[in-house]
Amino acid sequence: MTTVRLILGDQLNAAHSWFREARPDVCYLMMEIRSETDYVRHHAQKVIALFAAMRAFADALRLAGHRVHYYRIGDTANRQTFADNIRETVRTCSADRWERMEADEWRVEQALDEVASALGIPCRVVDAEHFLVGRAEVSRQFAERVPRMEYFYRGLRKKLGLLIDPSGQPHGGRWNFDEENRARWPGTPAAPDWPWQAHDLRAIWQEIQHAGVATMGDPNPDQVRWPITRKEARAGLVAFIRHSLPEFGRFQDAMSAHAPLLFHSALSFALNTKMLHPREVVDAAIGAWEEGTAPLAAVEGFIRQIIGWREFVRAVYWACMPAYSSVNALGASRPLPEWYWTAKTNMHCLRAAISQSLSLAYAHHIQRLMITGNFALLAGIAPDEVDAWYLGIYIDAFEWVELPNTRGMSQFADGGVLASKPYAAGANYIRKQSDYCHTCQYDARRRHGTGACPFNVLYWDFIDRHGETLGRNPRMALPYRNWALVNADEKQAIRVTAKQYLSQLDSL
Ligand code: FAD
Ligand code: SF4
Repeated sequence: MTTVRLILGDQLNAAHSWFREARPDVCYLMMEIRSETDYVRHHAQKVIALFAAMRAFADALRLAGHRVHYYRIGDTANRQTFADNIRETVRTCSADRWERMEADEWRVEQALDEVASALGIPCRVVDAEHFLVGRAEVSRQFAERVPRMEYFYRGLRKKLGLLIDPSGQPHGGRWNFDEENRARWPGTPAAPDWPWQAHDLRAIWQEIQHAGVATMGDPNPDQVRWPITRKEARAGLVAFIRHSLPEFGRFQDAMSAHAPLLFHSALSFALNTKMLHPREVVDAAIGAWEEGTAPLAAVEGFIRQIIGWREFVRAVYWACMPAYSSVNALGASRPLPEWYWTAKTNMHCLRAAISQSLSLAYAHHIQRLMITGNFALLAGIAPDEVDAWYLGIYIDAFEWVELPNTRGMSQFADGGVLASKPYAAGANYIRKQSDYCHTCQYDARRRHGTGACPFNVLYWDFIDRHGETLGRNPRMALPYRNWALVNADEKQAIRVTAKQYLSQLDSL
C-alpha cells in the first residue's frame, strides 16, 4: 500500500506529525503550478521566495529520508494543475490512497475536493497543525454570529493562559494597551535594519520567466530578502524579539518615508508559509516580557496581532466564505487608479507606501490600512480590484488573511461584520502618525480648493455620500456631528473639489 501525501506551498511546517518518521510507503508530492501562479498577478518576489522555500523544504525532507516527488514550474512533465499532477503521481507511485492537509484557501479546498471525487481512491484530510483555533471550533463559535475580535481574543488568551495572572485576570490589569501604542516616530531610536539576509535566486527567476508567468513589482532576484528555511525564520524571530519588540508597541501605528519596517517583525511570510508556528512566536514575545527585556504594552500589542487578529480573520474567512468574496456593502465601483501599479502619484504618503510595496513586497499594517486601503475606501474603488491588488502585491498575501483584511477591515464592504466602523480618515491622522505630509505637494490642512489634500476632500465627501447608511452607525456619530457643523458654502466647495478629484483619480 502506497500513500501520496500532498504538501501545498504554504504548508512548510516541518513539525507536522506527518514528518515524524520517514516511511517507504509514503511519497510526498509538491508542485509549482500555473493555476497557483496565475489566479492573480503576484509580486515577483512572492513567487520567487515561495518556490525557493518549497524547494528548500523538499530538500530537507529528502535529507531526513522521506520520498519526495517535486514538480518544478518548468518541468516538461508538469501538467500545471493539482488534478493532473496528483493523478500522475498516484499512477507512477502505484498509490492506492492519498492524503492532504486542510487547505487554508477556499479556492484550493474546492479544487482539491473535486480532485478527491474524480480520483476514485480514498482521500484523507488532516489538520495542518498550525492555527490555534481549529476549523471545527471556528464553525461552532461563529455559527450564529461573528463575535467582535476583542472578545474572541480575550477568550483565546484565557484558554491558552497567555499573560493571565493566577486570579484569571490579564497581567497589568488591562486587556488592551492601545492608548500607549500610538506614538509618532521622531527618528530615534533608530529602526533596526531589514531582518532577512539576501539570497541570489536568479536561477529560479529565470525558470519563472521562461515559463511565462506574469508578475508585478521589482524581482530583485540576486537579492531576495525573505526567509526560505525554518532556520532563517527562527533567526529572524530571535532578532525581532531582541531588537524591535521593545519598541513595537509604542511605534506600532507610526509611518515613515525613511523606515519602511520601523519596529514591525516582517514575520508574516514565515508564519503564513508555516515555517514558524504562531505559538512559538507568541511564547518568544512573552518570554521577553518575563525576562524584563520588553514592556508589557509592547508584548500585549504584539500577541494581539497574532492570537487576536490573525486567528480572528481566518475564523471570519471560514465562517463567511464563499459569500464574503463578493460583498460590496457600500456599492463601490470605481476602477483602481493606475498609479497603484506604478507609484506615480503626487500624494507623498501613497507614493511612499506603494513604491515600498513594489520594491519590497511589504508594507506594514498601518500603511496598508490607513494609506492605500483608506484611499481606496474614500474614493469608492471596486472591492474586487482592491482585493486583486492586495492579494498580488504582498509577500504574505493568501486569501484567507488578505480577504477579510481588505474587504472587511479596510473597505467595510462586509457592512460591519469584521469591524464596527470604517477605518476612514483624513490627512489629520496621517499627519500625526507620519513624516509624509510636510514634503507633499498637497496641503494637509485644506479640505477643498486648489492643492487641498485628497484625503481631506474625499473623507468629507465619503461621509456626505454615505450618510444614509453610515449615519445610523453609533460609532460614526462624531464625524456626522462634525459634518453637520460645516456651513453650507463649505460643504458645497468640498463637493465640487471631490467631484473634480474623483473624475481625475489617475492624475492625483
Ligand atoms: P507585525 O506588525 O510585526 O505583526 C506581527 C504578526 O501579526 C504579522 O506577521 C501577522 O502574522 C499578524 N498580523 C498583524 N496584523 C494582522 C491582521 N490584521 N490580520 C492578520 N494577521 C495580522 N496580513 C497577511 O499576513 N497577509 C495579507 O495578505 C494581509 N493583507 C492585508 C490587507 C490589508 C488591507 C490590511 C489592512 C492588512 C493586511 N494584512 C495581511 C495584515 C497585516 O497588515 C500584515 O499581517 C502585517 O503588516 C505583516 O507585517 P509584519 O509581519 O511586519 O507584522
Ligand atoms: Fe498624503 Fe495628504 Fe499628507 Fe499629502 S498631504 S502626504 S496626500 S495625507
